[in-house]
Amino acid sequence: MRVLLLIVWLLAFATCFVRAEEPPHELTPERRLHRVTFNDAKSVMRSVEARVLLEAQDGGLLLEARDGRLWNVTPKQLQKHESTDNEFKPLSADELGQQLSREVAELGITTPTQIVVTKHYVICSTAGRKYAEWCGSLFERLHDAFHAYWKAAGLELRESEFPLPAIVLKDHTQFTEFAAKHDRPDAAQSPGYFSEPTNRIILFDLTAGPNSPPAQTAADIQRKIAASPFNVATTIHEATHQIAFNSGLHTRYADNPRWLTEGMAMFFEVPDLDSRTGWKSIGRVNAPRRKEFRETSRSPSEAVPLTELIREDDVFLKEGKARAAYAESWALTFYLLKTRREDVVSYLKTIQKKPRLIADEPDVRLREFENVFGDSETLEREWKKWMATH
Ligand SMILES: [Zn+2]
Repeated sequence: MRVLLLIVWLLAFATCFVRAEEPPHELTPERRLHRVTFNDAKSVMRSVEARVLLEAQDGGLLLEARDGRLWNVTPKQLQKHESTDNEFKPLSADELGQQLSREVAELGITTPTQIVVTKHYVICSTAGRKYAEWCGSLFERLHDAFHAYWKAAGLELRESEFPLPAIVLKDHTQFTEFAAKHDRPDAAQSPGYFSEPTNRIILFDLTAGPNSPPAQTAADIQRKIAASPFNVATTIHEATHQIAFNSGLHTRYADNPRWLTEGMAMFFEVPDLDSRTGWKSIGRVNAPRRKEFRETSRSPSEAVPLTELIREDDVFLKEGKARAAYAESWALTFYLLKTRREDVVSYLKTIQKKPRLIADEPDVRLREFENVFGDSETLEREWKKWMATH
């Protein structure tokens, strides 16, 4: 007995000794949890647990909350800021699911929510469990295919630090109602969107029409989905944006050229619904975008010169130009990834280093592009010639 006690004591002592030898637990700034109270842009008082991504000299803060949401807090909005000795940790999938349910209810949607958790996603759905599960399986296949594509291209990406949130609403009416309150009112115009500030994708059940009840089985969903390829492409497009911003391909609130973020989402958006295990269509021609590219290129009033597309994002918002800007972004990304993938990777590495909240001058954008891809006028000629035969 005495021997046993001695062993126990020695073990306890050894443990203390090892602990005493460890360096004190240092929290780097990005790992420290802060508690911040502020009035948001709609004058709603918020208290969030977050990490501080940036602190401006005037006291303004860029925060990343535990649910992955970004908050830009001005000194005027700030009420209280407490730095703790605790470590910042993203919400668990269950905690995030509860938060998404609360958000849906707070925006006045009374349909009960169901939470579906997959390896990387938390899906909060008013569209029923079956449809949410179908989305989860689609997103997971896309996620794996996206990572595999870039690994093969020689670009290191990282696993998402946060569970990826998706809100799937039961029909287009509920989606419109949610989108108008959750984000900008114009978000409701689209058939789904990725919200860069909140990190969420917002979608609705594509199988629910005004005259058709929601699909009940996976096969039923598959059959109905196949009838609306454009809408499925939107779902995949938005999910691609989310993966790209959470894997380090792009950085939220950094100066990512719009042609690049949109071009990437369109490169991946071609649906591959046949395979249950893989995603074979990456890099396939995006037929609807190619058609739009051919139409807009022929129209001098609509076409956007390459330098303009690279220099500024405004062209995506210009009346009569947006269709061409999107189509050209797809065609440019498609051409560059098919013919100059290594150069695309080195260009992406430059863009990945961009700091948050700093916008580049148009000339800087063009110079960085030309540093990798050469003179833009020469490139434009070669690109258009190549596109005519692909
Ligand atoms: Zn997009």
